[in-house]
Amino acid sequence: MTARILAVANQKGGVGKTTTAVNLAAALAQQGRRVLLVDLDPQANSTMGSGVRKGDLPASVYQVLLGDAGIPEARQRSEEGGFDVLPANRNLAGAEVELVHELAREARLKNALAQVEAEYDYVLIDCPPSLTLLTLNGLVAAQGVLIPMVCEYYALEGLSDLVNTLRKVRVAVNPRIEIIGLVRTMFDARSNLSQQVAEQLARHFGDKVFETVVPRNVRLAEAPSHGLPGVVYDPTSRGAQAYQALATELLQRLEPAPSSSQDRP
Ligand code: ATP
Ligand code: MG
Repeated sequence: MTARILAVANQKGGVGKTTTAVNLAAALAQQGRRVLLVDLDPQANSTMGSGVRKGDLPASVYQVLLGDAGIPEARQRSEEGGFDVLPANRNLAGAEVELVHELAREARLKNALAQVEAEYDYVLIDCPPSLTLLTLNGLVAAQGVLIPMVCEYYALEGLSDLVNTLRKVRVAVNPRIEIIGLVRTMFDARSNLSQQVAEQLARHFGDKVFETVVPRNVRLAEAPSHGLPGVVYDPTSRGAQAYQALATELLQRLEPAPSSSQDRP
């Protein structure tokens, strides 16, 4: 079986894309899955948050997108996280411009992943806060999209742009892509607004919304400064437990146990 490739995307900034990508990568690894985390953001937050030093990389996702390196040369190991990382650094900001005249520029990541897909159960792609060529590479490569949304008043703002982009990707290049689920992040149980928005999202999107709600939790925010995923940094924190539960829920959605009717004669 080849890898399930999932993009973590939302063009809104600061909604928990990177925190979700890094923690799911580590939580899926803890559950025995072979995981590659792809950092598609020039901010390189998921690279740093996985404990990979972006300063001394022989190659990065930038060279991979430009066709100057393959993923086997560029990937690094997050030792503590237990997963592989295709790292990013600032150079990636230039890829957007440099790829303009290249052929199949939206399919660069997809084509590069073909070489290593069989080595992984899951490939998670942390997208930047934009709907430009980098995110497009993520969406073209992916079979499914995870959309983190903050439980705040403006949560839905811009979601239609993402849904429209997904529709275009589906028609033009990637008919198989689907929304796997919306993840409610930074939930504040003491805030009425947070609760209202969380409920609204569940009503509006039905079973596309993951049951697991990720609380606002300072341990999740501290973890990257130690180069560790939150689920490794403080596994007993409420934030870590939420991401462990989210990973379990994701596995239930994507790897459903064979139905018992098949066991009967
Ligand atoms: P960008 O759009 O810039 O890539 P993002 O969508 O990847 O941002 P994150 O970087 O994951 O968002 O989160 C934004 C900030 O909020 C970070 O400082 C992160 O540590 C913090 N944060 C994320 N999730 C939580 C949480 N559940 N509780 C507390 N802090 C959080
Ligand atoms: Mg990010």
